[in-house]
Amino acid sequence: MRAEILAVGTEILLGDIVNTNAQYLSKRLADLGISVYHQTVVGDNEERLLKAYTQAFERADIVIATGGLGPTKDDLTKEIGAKYFNKELVLHNESLEYIEDYFKRLNRTMSEGNRKQALIPGGATVLPNPNGTAPGCIIEGNNKVLIMLPGPPKEMIPMFDNHAVRYLQKFSDGILVSKILRVSGLGESAMAEKVQDIIDKQTNPTVAPYAKDFEAILRITAKANTKEEAEKLIVPMEKEIRERLGDNIYAEGETSLDFVVGEMLVKKNLTISTAESCTGGLLAGTLINYPGISTVFMEGAVTYSNEAKMKRLGVKGETLKKYGAVSEETAREMAVGIARAAGTNVGISVTGIAGPGGGTEEKPVGLVYVGMYINGETKVRELNMSGDRQKVRNRTVVNILDWLRRELLNR
Ligand code: ATP
Repeated sequence: MRAEILAVGTEILLGDIVNTNAQYLSKRLADLGISVYHQTVVGDNEERLLKAYTQAFERADIVIATGGLGPTKDDLTKEIGAKYFNKELVLHNESLEYIEDYFKRLNRTMSEGNRKQALIPGGATVLPNPNGTAPGCIIEGNNKVLIMLPGPPKEMIPMFDNHAVRYLQKFSDGILVSKILRVSGLGESAMAEKVQDIIDKQTNPTVAPYAKDFEAILRITAKANTKEEAEKLIVPMEKEIRERLGDNIYAEGETSLDFVVGEMLVKKNLTISTAESCTGGLLAGTLINYPGISTVFMEGAVTYSNEAKMKRLGVKGETLKKYGAVSEETAREMAVGIARAAGTNVGISVTGIAGPGGGTEEKPVGLVYVGMYINGETKVRELNMSGDRQKVRNRTVVNILDWLRRELLNR
């Protein structure tokens, strides 16, 4: 069984975005034992897309197309896919209801284009998209299969993992079961290094490392005749990996670091407040991603200026003068100050130089101090972040969440 990946989008051809979908799908198809001999990228152009389908199906039995399911005129993947298979597009009522509901929930007006997203090639199997508006679908005909998935990885990955994999398993001999271990505080390569020998000698289960938005993921996939047998194969492999990675594994399955930390704070009933300078509220915003956080998150202050640090948090003028706003001492006083002002168990502060300007030899761009007050005890950490302003800010927040998670583990 041969598959080919077809990424649709002029943005990819122009180099505006990187084709990470193809990378993800190639790895997953390899796990499934389905060969990929070609990947193609084609722009949003009717004629060239039809040609790309024709050429891909000359080489492969299954084509997985991503992107171009959106509401605009240049989103053509489904239209041309239907044309290739000689099918008409028909309205899929369930998808239309879902899209209407999606816009109602957001209190936004739905466009005619969004209605178009509910059109599906006749006879196709619809793949629901709980993370966006465009459903995916699978068309079969003449021993060929076309799987169409949305472009945004946040929509494409869950749709592939939760629906397409189940479908593709029939082309794979045996049943596949996967387990995801999520790692934070270690980059993808540091994580891979720790388990490199396991990865090198893997057969069944296979172990694949991935990098995803400042975290690393290990996917263990076992193949067997039954689900139970596959799960059994995963157990010793998971045990060995857990022994190597220890506390660096923060969760398994579909979740995220902000959710895990939010859940820990709520379970342990620890109230929290934040005082941010260079991250400008990003830490508070990230903590608030967790829906149950309101019982513990009390206050987030963006204290950008020295005045605000003094007035709101009680940082001493002397400290700022002697050590500077970006210093261990200031971070310490900020953390204690916000915890005291908000009356919380935990107080976290951030002060740093996000760049591009403002760095000196002594205090370069990317230097960040984080203060963490927990029930009377205060620690400060110095971070040295690389990357542009946004990356420094994002990485700092992930770093803080991971530190907080580790601090909370034994409380
Ligand atoms: P939407 O409904 O959001 O319009 P779509 O299925 O039409 O989704 P596109 O419009 O083609 O998808 O792409 C939307 C976004 O998804 C892109 O701007 C990009 O951020 C991301 N994206 C698209 N294709 C890829 C790809 N191959 N790899 C990584 N990201 C991609």
